[in-house]
Amino acid sequence: MGIFSIEQKDNKKILSVKSPVDFRTVGTYECASTEDVKSAMQKSRDAQKHWSKTSITERCELMHNLIDVIMENQDYIMQVVMDETGKPIQEAMSMEIYSAIDSLAFYAKRAPKWLKDESRSMHGPMQFLKKTKVAFKPRGVIGVITPWNGPFILSINPAIQAVLAGNSVIIKPSEVTPKSGMLVEEMFKKADAPDNLVQVLIGDGQVGADLINLKPDKVSFTGSIKTGKLIARQCGESLIPFSLELGGKDAMIVCDDADIDDAAKGAVIGSCMNAGQYCCGTERIYVQESIYESFLEKVVEYTKELKQSDDKYADVGPTFWDKQIDIIEDHIEDAKSKGAKILIGGKRNPNFDGLYFEPTVIVDVTHDMKIMTDETFGPIISIMKVSSEDEAIRLANDSFYGLNGNVWTKDITKGEKIAKSIETGACSINDMAMSYGVNEAPFGGVKNSGLGSVNGKEGLRSYAHAMPLIIGKKPAALYPYNEKSFNQMKGALKIFWGNKFVRKIFG
Ligand code: NAD
Repeated sequence: MGIFSIEQKDNKKILSVKSPVDFRTVGTYECASTEDVKSAMQKSRDAQKHWSKTSITERCELMHNLIDVIMENQDYIMQVVMDETGKPIQEAMSMEIYSAIDSLAFYAKRAPKWLKDESRSMHGPMQFLKKTKVAFKPRGVIGVITPWNGPFILSINPAIQAVLAGNSVIIKPSEVTPKSGMLVEEMFKKADAPDNLVQVLIGDGQVGADLINLKPDKVSFTGSIKTGKLIARQCGESLIPFSLELGGKDAMIVCDDADIDDAAKGAVIGSCMNAGQYCCGTERIYVQESIYESFLEKVVEYTKELKQSDDKYADVGPTFWDKQIDIIEDHIEDAKSKGAKILIGGKRNPNFDGLYFEPTVIVDVTHDMKIMTDETFGPIISIMKVSSEDEAIRLANDSFYGLNGNVWTKDITKGEKIAKSIETGACSINDMAMSYGVNEAPFGGVKNSGLGSVNGKEGLRSYAHAMPLIIGKKPAALYPYNEKSFNQMKGALKIFWGNKFVRKIFG
C-alpha cells in the first residue's frame, strides 16, 4: 500500500497522502501545473522587488511575529506533522517546533550584524589608496526543495534565512508530507508577511524540476543523492547557484576509554531517533574490542527499554513511507544472508498494521553488507568490533558518504584528532546527531553527502551575493605607461615584498 499516490483527474494531478500509522487518508491536494509554477514565480519576483527594499529591522520583526505565530499554533503544527509522519509528539516538538523557534530567534538576533556591510582592511600599498567593504545583496527568488523526514523544519529553516537576506521563497515540499510544507506559507501569512513572499507548490519531482526551469536565483535542496545530482545538472545548465544537503551513513567510533554507559545511550538515540530517519543519524558503529561486550550489553538493555507504538508518547514511531521500510527490510535480509546476527528486533512490529519496524540491534556485520555501506534510514543499531582506533577510522572512511559522525572517548584531545581524521562534513565528540540543530555551525556534507553549506553565518550569507565595493581614496593614475611608471611599480614591489620582515607586516 503506497503512502502517497498521484492520479490524473481531468487536466489535474491529484495527490493523496495516507498516514503510515493506520493508512487513513490525511490529505488530498491538487498538484501545481507548469502554469501554476510560472504564475508563482512571477508573483515571487514581484514580492521580492518590494521585500529587497525593506530594512533588516523590518525583516527581523517579521521573524519575531513568526515566533509568536508558531508558539500559538504549535499544537496544530505538531498534529499535521504527526498525521503525515506518525512521529511521536516529543520528536514533533524537538525537531519541528523547538528547532524552528530556536533558529528564528538565533537568526533574528544575528542577521543585522551578519548581513550588514562589512569593512575589510586592505593590505600592502593598496591600504594607502583604497577602502573595501562587502555588501550582502539579496539574490532574488530562492527555490527550496525538501524531503519528508523533517518536513516542517527542513522547509522553514532555509526559508527564514532566505527571507532575512531579502529574498522571496518558493518551497516544493515532499509529496510524502505536503501539508507539513504548506504550513510554512500559512505561518508566514499569519505573521503578516507580505503577499507571496513565501509560497508553497505541491506536487512530485516534476514540480521541482519545473521550478528550476524558471531559473530561481538559488536552489536550496535537501534530499537524496540521486535527486541531488539531477538538480546539480539542471542548475549547472543555467548556472543557478545551489546547495545540496544529501544522505549520509554516519559512523560512530567508540574508543576503549569511552564512558560506556554514555556511549551506549548515544548509540541508541543516535540510531533510533525519528525512527532512524534522520540525515545525521548514526548508521554504523565501530567499537574497540576491549569494551565491545560491555558496550553491547548496555546497548541491548537500552534498546529493550524503547517503547514502540502508535501512542503519541512512544519512543519510536513508524517509518514514514513504504519505500523506506522496503529499503530497511532489504538491508536486514542482505545482512542476515551474509552472516550478520540479530540480537533484538530485525522485523516489522507484528503488533501494528502500520509501517513499524522494530528497533534492531545487529552484530557480526561487515562492509560487504548494504547495512554498513548504504543509507538504511531505519531504527537499526549496527555494531562492528574493531581492534584499534586506526581500524575504526579506516572503516569510517570506507564510505561513499560523508555527512556526519561521532567519536566517544574521555580524552577530548584524542577525540578531536580522530574526528578530524574522519572524512565527513561534521563530527561530534561524546555527542551525536546534533550538527543540524547547532545554529552556530555551518552544516554540509563532503563526498556524496552534499555540496555547499547551510546554517550558521556561512549559511545565512549564502542566500546573499557578497558584493565588494571598492572605494578609491585617490583616482588611479597609471597612464601614461613609461619607464618611470614601470620603475615605480618595480620599486614598490621591492619595498613591500622584497624583504621578509617588511612583507610580514604588509602582507
Ligand atoms: P528525494 O530526493 O526523493 O526528494 C526530495 C525532494 O526532491 C522532494 O520534494 C521531491 O519531490 C523532489 N524531487 C524529486 N525529483 C526531483 C527533480 N527531478 N527535480 C526537482 N525536485 C525533485 O529525497 P527524500 O526521499 O524526500 O529524502 C530523503 C533523503 O534526504 C535521505 O537520503 C536523507 O538522508 C536526505 N536528507 C538529508 C538532509 C541533510 O541535511 N543532509 C536532511 C534530511 C534528509
